[in-house]
Amino acid sequence: MVSYKKLGLVNTKKMFAKAVKGGYAIPAFNFNTMEQMQAIVQAAVETKSPVIMQVSKGARKYANPTILRYMAEGAVQYAKELGCKKPQIVLHLDHGDSYETCKSCIDSGFSSVMIDGSSLPFKDNIKLTKKVVAYAHKHDVTVEAELGVLAGVEDEVAAEESHYTKPEEVIEFATKTGCDSLAISIGTSHGAYKFKPEQCTRDKKTGKLVPPPLAFDVLKAVEKKLPGFPIVLHGSSSVPQEHVDTINKFGGKLPDAVGIPEEQLRKAAKSAVCKINIDSDSRLAMTAAIRRHFAENPGHFDPRQYLTPAREAMKQLYIHKIVKVLGSNNKI
Ligand SMILES: [Zn+2]
Repeated sequence: MVSYKKLGLVNTKKMFAKAVKGGYAIPAFNFNTMEQMQAIVQAAVETKSPVIMQVSKGARKYANPTILRYMAEGAVQYAKELGCKKPQIVLHLDHGDSYETCKSCIDSGFSSVMIDGSSLPFKDNIKLTKKVVAYAHKHDVTVEAELGVLAGVEDEVAAEESHYTKPEEVIEFATKTGCDSLAISIGTSHGAYKFKPEQCTRDKKTGKLVPPPLAFDVLKAVEKKLPGFPIVLHGSSSVPQEHVDTINKFGGKLPDAVGIPEEQLRKAAKSAVCKINIDSDSRLAMTAAIRRHFAENPGHFDPRQYLTPAREAMKQLYIHKIVKVLGSNNKI
């Protein structure tokens, strides 16, 4: 058993309380590789932002859980080396699918876990979440739960249709489970193809898809039921068209990829939404930089040659999100 406190990590408790009060949201960036980790830490240190580094089931499979845990420990030391005296870094399990996975993460040094029982019947979701909360709280680890179903594909989490969170269920759920934050479904979606073209309208000038607006009425109703309770938005990449265009220009094929407009996320960040998950955008930034690099430098084969601009592109994306979308800069 390794406590996250020994690794210099923090849980989400104080961070979320401050964010709810301050009208901003904490960035939750997924990481799988060293370059992503470095870019996240550099961006967080430069902007003086707290940050949640999250690990999905797919990341655990790709990189190995032990390596990811040591990378997070390394992230804290790296942040200090870059000049941040007291890094506010959370190591979070994204979409934990069982009590056992959550327990193993807590035992290996995670400071926060998500238990995703959103596909279960309401009562079973409560039962599972409650069990995870009981173990996590014993170790001062915070727990994110989910009510409502998001559409889209993210690693192994996939659903055909979204079901908005029912505001009438949130009080019972939060009280009975004791969870520390709640992911809700208000129309965000996983992946780079968040909406089918028939769900969108088309901008007459650019021909680009315009996605349907988020269900702010559902968010408001949830806030009313649970005043000040930390709310989480998954599937909140914006799918920047500049990166999609670069990918398509240099041999890629991502027709009609579309995300959540940043102004809607800005609006959400000002409410009780205090954690916004962004994964696809960093994948797009990385891929666009690599495709451009290979197109312009066909003779290059040293990974450092193409991963350097890829890392820089991700860092710029993270800084943009922190400063222009979430407002979590200068909070350390
Ligand atoms: Zn998610």
